Amino acid sequence: MPAGEFELIERYFTRRGAHREDVLAGVGDDAALVAAPAHATLVLASDTIVEGGHFPAGFDARFVGHRALAVNLSDLAAMGAEPAWALLAITLPAPDEHWLSGFAAGLDALARRHGVALVGGDTTRGPLTVTMTAAGTVPPGGALMREGARPGDDVWVSGTPGDAAAGLAILQGRLPAQGRARDALLARFQLPQPRVALGLALRGIATACIDISDGLAGDLGKLCAASGVGADVESRELPLSAGLCSVAAPGARVGYALAGGDDYELLFSAGPGERARISALDAGVVLRRIGTIAEVLGVRIDGEPPGRDAGHGFDHFGGTAPVRR
Ligand code: ADP
Ligand code: MG
Repeated sequence: MPAGEFELIERYFTRRGAHREDVLAGVGDDAALVAAPAHATLVLASDTIVEGGHFPAGFDARFVGHRALAVNLSDLAAMGAEPAWALLAITLPAPDEHWLSGFAAGLDALARRHGVALVGGDTTRGPLTVTMTAAGTVPPGGALMREGARPGDDVWVSGTPGDAAAGLAILQGRLPAQGRARDALLARFQLPQPRVALGLALRGIATACIDISDGLAGDLGKLCAASGVGADVESRELPLSAGLCSVAAPGARVGYALAGGDDYELLFSAGPGERARISALDAGVVLRRIGTIAEVLGVRIDGEPPGRDAGHGFDHFGGTAPVRR
């Protein structure tokens, strides 16, 4: 970005997020230097969000800043990683300082909450696109993976999936809602909370884990495919929020929970012997057992393959994208 690039970087992207002693050089040099712990495995994730695709045009800049980091922290959480550092590559149509200060505030607040330092990035001009790369650590061999689920394991989910998709539908005027339910569902789309503490707590407990970005049924399908297993889910066990139940008809609720994206909850498998330990976890979010891992491949909801939309989740190139956006 020509005029003012350095001023913008200095003003909005320098000393952002947590202060960390292990950052030897942050924003300002050609690349960042971090003192990675000697005996840890580094965990790296990168995600891009595009205006009009991953968030609606005109979305509050604070929510965009929050989301850019949240989606990456969610990927680290799904691996059981402790987040530490982040890089930001941002493409802006114009150097709008009001927008930038909102964006930086949203990003900064979430980064501080999770002890993440913004250590570098790149700033360019073009259609609004934000790519973040987050890095964290796990003890060697301690990462949660999509593979590892075994027949007989329980399937668990955190939080109340479906809320974020309902929030987006409300925002886009596709789902009428008022009052407290409306506010709660909107907030779940606007400020998704990455389940970092849960990911850490599940080390040594979960046999496999994935974060729900594209819809529960589709993401469970990915976990099963990676593990070489199938899964049976009981729809009556799905944890539906009071908000979702008050705005969506009974049939539609389950559809939101199974096919709705953007929840950033964790979906994981664990042996039945871990039920007491999992129920006793205090990771800031409710956990619910929704089904069982099976030998027979595929995902079944109440014994049936998921509906077309629920099964596919959101696929940018698949041509089967649900009506979400
Ligand atoms: P170079 O031309 O050497 O790549 P830049 O001028 O792009 O350097 O960046 C200068 C410094 O500012 C670097 O440390 C870079 O990591 C940092 N930086 C640039 N843009 C951002 C951003 N959006 N967020 C965080 N750091 C940034
Ligand atoms: Mg550069």
